[in-house]
Amino acid sequence: MTLTEKDSQYLWHPYTQHKTSQTSIAISRGEGALLWDENGKEYIDAIASWWVNPFGHSNKFIADAIYKQLTTLEHVLFGGFTHEPAIKVAERLMEILPKNQQKIFFSDNGSTAVEVAIKVALQYFFNKNEKRTTIIAFENAFHGDTFAAMAASGISFYTQAFQGMFIDVVRIPVPVKGKEQESFDALKDVIENNNCAGFIFEPLVQGAAGMVMYEPEALAKLIKICRENKVLTIADEVMTGFGKTGKTFAMDYVLENPDMICLSKALTGGTIPMAITTFTQEVFDAFYDDDINKALFHGHTFTANPTGCAAALASMNLLQTEEMQANIERINSSHLIFQKKIEKHSKVITARTLGVIFAVEIKSDSEESYYGSMRNKLYNFFIEKGVILRPVGNIVYILPPYIMTNEQLQKVYQTIEEAIEMV
Ligand SMILES: *Cc1c(COP(=O)(O)O)cnc(C)c1O
Repeated sequence: MTLTEKDSQYLWHPYTQHKTSQTSIAISRGEGALLWDENGKEYIDAIASWWVNPFGHSNKFIADAIYKQLTTLEHVLFGGFTHEPAIKVAERLMEILPKNQQKIFFSDNGSTAVEVAIKVALQYFFNKNEKRTTIIAFENAFHGDTFAAMAASGISFYTQAFQGMFIDVVRIPVPVKGKEQESFDALKDVIENNNCAGFIFEPLVQGAAGMVMYEPEALAKLIKICRENKVLTIADEVMTGFGKTGKTFAMDYVLENPDMICLSKALTGGTIPMAITTFTQEVFDAFYDDDINKALFHGHTFTANPTGCAAALASMNLLQTEEMQANIERINSSHLIFQKKIEKHSKVITARTLGVIFAVEIKSDSEESYYGSMRNKLYNFFIEKGVILRPVGNIVYILPPYIMTNEQLQKVYQTIEEAIEMV
C-alpha cells in the first residue's frame, strides 16, 4: 500500500469532507521552498505550508538549535519552574514588539493564543467588578477553531454547527477602502449598546477571508475609539507576524498600540507548534492581587516548551538577518510588478500586495463559495502543475517562504496566469 492509501484507511484530515475530496498527497521530503511526494514529484510550496514556514523546509540553522536544546533540556513543567530559553524568547520579543507589550504567556497554537487573549479580556473586567462580556470582531474574521476563537470568527464554514453556543460577539464591517466611516460608526454604535470587553482583529490583512486588506490609519482610528471607551484591543498577528507584511509585525505600521498581541504560525519558523499571547503591564496588573481567584487559571501542559523556545529564538535570529530582510523586499518588489501586469487582465477583478502577501480575485459567473467549484478547479490545476496554492473561493493568494528563489516565484506567477486563462 502507498502512504496515500494507508492514510485513507486511518486518518481524519482538517477542513476535509472525506467522501468528496481527493486522497491526500504524501510528502516525504522538503528543502527550501520545495517539497517532494512519495513518488518523487516536486512541488513549490507557495503558501509556506499554511503560512508557517518563512525560512524554508528542513532549515538546518533551526534544526541545529532544536537538536542542541533537545539534548540539553527537552521539556520541563512551567508551573513553578522556568528556564533560559523562555526568558530569552521574552527578552527578544520585548526588543521587537510594540513598546507597550510587557508580559508574555505561552501556549501551543494560534487558536489558543486567541483563546487566552479573549479569556484575559473577559476576566480583566470580572476582576475589576465591571460587567463587560461582549467581544467585538470583524465580519469574515478568522481567529481559530477553539470555542472562543471560533465565536470571534465570522466565516460560516467554520462555525455554523455551533451557532447559539458562543460567548457574545458583535461584528463590525472591515474598514476596506470606502467603508472606513461605516466601520468607525458601527464600532461606536456597538460600544454604546453593549458592555464591551474587547475588540479582536487581524491587523491590516484578514488571512483566511482571502487576504482582505485595509489601511493602518483606519485601524489606528478603531483602536483609539476602543481606548477612549476602555475596550481592550487584541491584535491577532498569528498570520501577519514575523515579516509577512514587510515589517516585523503588521502593528508596526499602526500608530496606536493594542493591549494584547497573539503570535504563532511563523514564530518557530514552521518547526514546532508554539504560540504566545503578549500583554501590557496594565492588563497583567488586573490579575496581580492577594486574591488567588484573580489569577489567570489557564495553562497548557506543553506551555513554554524549551525546544519550541529554542526554535523560536533561532527563527527570530534568522528573520533579523540582512539577508532575510532583503529577501522580503525582493519578494515584495516582485509581487508589485506581477500585480501591475495581472490587474489589467480582463478576467481579473482586483489584485493586491502587502509585504510577501499577494492576492488576485478572479471574475466568476456564479457566486463563488469558500470551497466552491472554481476553487476546486483552480486547486487541482495548481497541484497538477506542481505548485501548492489553496485558493479561497475565486481568490488566489501567494504567501511564499521568504527564501523562495526568483525562478520559483516566476513559475508560481506563470502558473497563476495559466490558471486564469483556464477557468
Ligand atoms: C491560523 C490562524 C489562527 C489559528 O491558528 P491555529 O494555529 O491554526 O490554531 C488564528 N488567527 C489567525 C489570524 C490565523 O491566521
